Amino acid sequence: MRKNIVAGNWKMNNDLPQTEALIVDLLKQTQTSNAEVMIAPTYVNLYQAFDATRNSNIEVIAQNMHFAENGAYTGEISATMLKSVGVKTVILGHSERRAYFNETNESLAKKVDAALKNDLRIIFCFGEELSDRKSGNQEQVVENQIKSALFHLEASAFKNIVLAYEPVWAIGTGETASPEQAQDMHKFIRQTLQNKYGENTAQDVSILYGGSVKPANAKEIFSKPDVDGGLIGGASLKAEDFIAIVNAF
Ligand code: PEP
Repeated sequence: MRKNIVAGNWKMNNDLPQTEALIVDLLKQTQTSNAEVMIAPTYVNLYQAFDATRNSNIEVIAQNMHFAENGAYTGEISATMLKSVGVKTVILGHSERRAYFNETNESLAKKVDAALKNDLRIIFCFGEELSDRKSGNQEQVVENQIKSALFHLEASAFKNIVLAYEPVWAIGTGETASPEQAQDMHKFIRQTLQNKYGENTAQDVSILYGGSVKPANAKEIFSKPDVDGGLIGGASLKAEDFIAIVNAF
């Protein structure tokens, strides 16, 4: 079922006291909203964040996971570990993971399988580089990212998948895709899903936009028919800004 979602990706920011303080601020301001609200703190603070948001409408989610169940993967975290601290949703394929940690469409397909096998919902990120957009290849790049990591799945798997279109040139740069550019790409993504899985699946999947969303531009971006919410980086670190973005719905 298609839902409006606003998810904050805190990346490698906020130690434990800062995590707790930001959650206190968020809880003061979020009572009801027309969107599902999620925050993704760093791994080491997931349990405390989960505890601090109990009985609230904020879901604590993870920024990444490994594809193996357990074993000799020093420094990595598995799906079962995430589940054991209460996590139900994981972000996979963020462009920073692809760029700095060599995540590929192939390794992401394995992570997708591991998350689904463990009943985790996935926010699957993808998006083109500036050079792709300049050369007019953005749709081809995005189609390839989606197909290689997701199109081995059955249609039913998409009940547990949220897509996040994040043009790399707009992440953390202050540069935002225009609402029209976002809508055009989201429509293309939905059509790509429809071609493979049919209209019902395509219409049911939530597609988030990410890339310098701020209180000032959220409303217009979210008003586009194929944009179902946002994955928010920088602006999710300030309670007031994040709540203003949530309230843009
Ligand atoms: C992100 O990291 O997913 C993101 C969209 O970052 P920002 O909002 O800072 O561009």
